[in-house]
Amino acid sequence: MLSRLFNHFLLQSINAVVRIVLGCFLLGCMAGSHVQKIEKYRKKLQYYLQKDSLVASFIQIDAQGISLFDSEQAKQKRQAEFQLSWEKLDDFQRLIRHCPDQAWQIYDTNNWQLLSSFQDTLAVLTSQLALPRKRQLPLAGIRIALDAGHFASNLNEAKIEERFIQMRLPKEKQVVTFFEAHLTWCTAQILKEKLEKQGAIVLLTRPTLEANAKQMWQSWREAKAQLKKNNLIDTLQAFHTWLINYKKQDLITRYQKINNFKPNLTLIIHYNVDADNTCRETPTPKNYNMAFVAGSFLGKELNTKKDRFHLLRLLVSQEIENSIAFAEKVLQSFEKHLQVPTIPAETQLDYLKKNCLLTERQGVYARNLTLCREVLGTLCYGESLYQDNQEEALALSKRELEILPNIFTSKRVAQVAEAYYEAILEYIKETNKKKLNF
Ligand SMILES: [Zn+2]
Repeated sequence: MLSRLFNHFLLQSINAVVRIVLGCFLLGCMAGSHVQKIEKYRKKLQYYLQKDSLVASFIQIDAQGISLFDSEQAKQKRQAEFQLSWEKLDDFQRLIRHCPDQAWQIYDTNNWQLLSSFQDTLAVLTSQLALPRKRQLPLAGIRIALDAGHFASNLNEAKIEERFIQMRLPKEKQVVTFFEAHLTWCTAQILKEKLEKQGAIVLLTRPTLEANAKQMWQSWREAKAQLKKNNLIDTLQAFHTWLINYKKQDLITRYQKINNFKPNLTLIIHYNVDADNTCRETPTPKNYNMAFVAGSFLGKELNTKKDRFHLLRLLVSQEIENSIAFAEKVLQSFEKHLQVPTIPAETQLDYLKKNCLLTERQGVYARNLTLCREVLGTLCYGESLYQDNQEEALALSKRELEILPNIFTSKRVAQVAEAYYEAILEYIKETNKKKLNF
């Protein structure tokens, strides 16, 4: 009897030990399988997303997954506002790619139960992606959003916007005058026509030269009426305060248009100036191209829940990596078509030092600009040329090419459009070759 009891006890003990050993082994395996992910996302965070040490107060990457916190105190108490476990990573990545609004809903409510109600939509969207495209034209069915930077439609508005060039060049008798909003708009127009001929579906966020400027005046009239109603004196100061808000609103309208359009690619078009040439009345001998993609958050830029969602979105999606590949094509094409070099990696410019992280591609910087952060998917924020360079200022000031009835621009602008066009074709060709969905 005793020996039977002893045997029973022995068997039970062996059983328990085996279970414990097996459990530890499984746990070890699970942790082991996460090690690579932990390392991958920690590296990515450091490399593309974390500009200063304060960012670390809002995020933790460990065996449990990726946790986001609303403050340093919450992190110390391990009170996450959202936790993405490694088991749910694939689902969340698919949501971000196909239904970003729903991904935000889950984040905002911290309610994973919602996921099951999104599964049907997700399945439909994923199956649509698999449909073969008609390939008679290289860009058939490709949706491209073009955002022509700034909104002035004449020089006075450009002065209000503080984006204009007015300078006397050493060998020229006349003062050369032009403004960036006109250059970007004409670039977008030329580019749109070229892309559509190749089958692309193109969205312009600034459809006419005057559209956004008209909106600006309308908004100012309304603000002024409100000021008068409140018996506030209409001063220049009031105008400047209003203008700062209007510029923010203008960007919101732009990214909402782009995200509603659901593009495959977004190009944000700007022309640069030499930030060291502060007086702007004399030309600079320097001339470079550069491009921005999303990333490079400062701790102070993570104060809202939506900002922290974007940090997570950019961390776990391929958007930054794809954008870098696209931006690299743009810079290569700029060099070829414009004969202007990409900015050297060692260049010390204030905004590059304070706000940007240089990626593995020369001239491509992660930067947390509103449009870089808010526009979903693959994008390139292109900054071609220095408008205040002596040769460029002269070339860009010429109105020699009629692109639409009574709308003239410089041949240099057409070269910039050609460079973007070729970069888009190249990028699409390469993604098709790699059979990547972007
Ligand atoms: Zn600009």
